[in-house]
Amino acid sequence: MNRFLREKVPFYISYSVGYFKFPSATPMENKILLGSDLVFEFDADEVGLFSEKDVWICDTCGAAGFGYRDRCPRCGSPVRVEIFPDEEREEKLKAMVDALIKDFLLDDFGLSPKEVSINFSGNRGYHVHVRSPDLRELSKEARIEIAEYITGQSINPSHLFGEAVPCGRGSPLLCVKGPSPSSRGWPGRVARSVLRVLREKDPSFLSGIVDEKVVKVILSNASLYASFIERGLWPAPKLVPLSVWVDIARKTAPLSGYIIDTNTSVDIHRLIRLPNSIHGTTGLIAKEVKNLASFDPYRDAIALPSREVTVKVRIAPEFSMNGKTFGPFENEEVQLPLYVAYYLIGRGVAEWSLTSKE
Ligand SMILES: [Zn+2]
Repeated sequence: MNRFLREKVPFYISYSVGYFKFPSATPMENKILLGSDLVFEFDADEVGLFSEKDVWICDTCGAAGFGYRDRCPRCGSPVRVEIFPDEEREEKLKAMVDALIKDFLLDDFGLSPKEVSINFSGNRGYHVHVRSPDLRELSKEARIEIAEYITGQSINPSHLFGEAVPCGRGSPLLCVKGPSPSSRGWPGRVARSVLRVLREKDPSFLSGIVDEKVVKVILSNASLYASFIERGLWPAPKLVPLSVWVDIARKTAPLSGYIIDTNTSVDIHRLIRLPNSIHGTTGLIAKEVKNLASFDPYRDAIALPSREVTVKVRIAPEFSMNGKTFGPFENEEVQLPLYVAYYLIGRGVAEWSLTSKE
């Protein structure tokens, strides 16, 4: 493969998540699909993590600016949004990847850490690869079920709660038996999320979920309710419908903002950037991540050398790469390390300067 890559020099290289009986057969249906890996994609733009450092560019009229925009404020055409390194966003993305792996893949599904690997995509985020012979043959429908479980969409309140009992010996208050914080899977997740919300007592968060009357009941009884839920007893089902507790958990779940891209985790023919190959758009390596907590793509995935070249930059925010700060730039000619210059050119915000001696 190395020789092939040196001779052909492709702009980028991807591989299929599918396993085929006859991989070289054509057309597609003659390859015979035997199964495929499960891959979860966490791209900053797809999970809605935009930043003030991002740049929008209108290719119709030439306008450009910082932050996220759908349409050009000058001519109304759709714009493209280019993302730039932002530490806060990186941490949020990493927290989502971490939650998927620890909370769901390992804890709930019982996969072994050996079956799960993380890759920086080389561009806007991370891929989580699950390579398990047990999951390989899962159908598309089964994959959709997994995706719905992870986002909490498929959690049915009637599966979580049981019979009505008094909240305590001689207590006039009615409770319903349900999960406690130590329950496994979503039941425990619901209990823990609700306890956190009862502790924080944030009325604005609650009013986004239930009507004002119920918010008042919950807030004025927060500590009492928490003491019951700690023991797996859910109070006052007539005042607070049980579905409210599940809605709270869904909204605070670690991956609640994660819209399972139906083209990703569910697609059994998906093409994925080859780990440890260079991404043509950024010049960064689609690198395998060994330690997620300490991984910084803009330091650890740099492939190109740091010798300086001259480029004309149209627009770029202040951003850091390799521990150094660059920008902001606007319509200027600057000398930059090759890895920064390439990143800007790939993002479509700079071009090689004709006066450059390089
Ligand atoms: Zn425009």
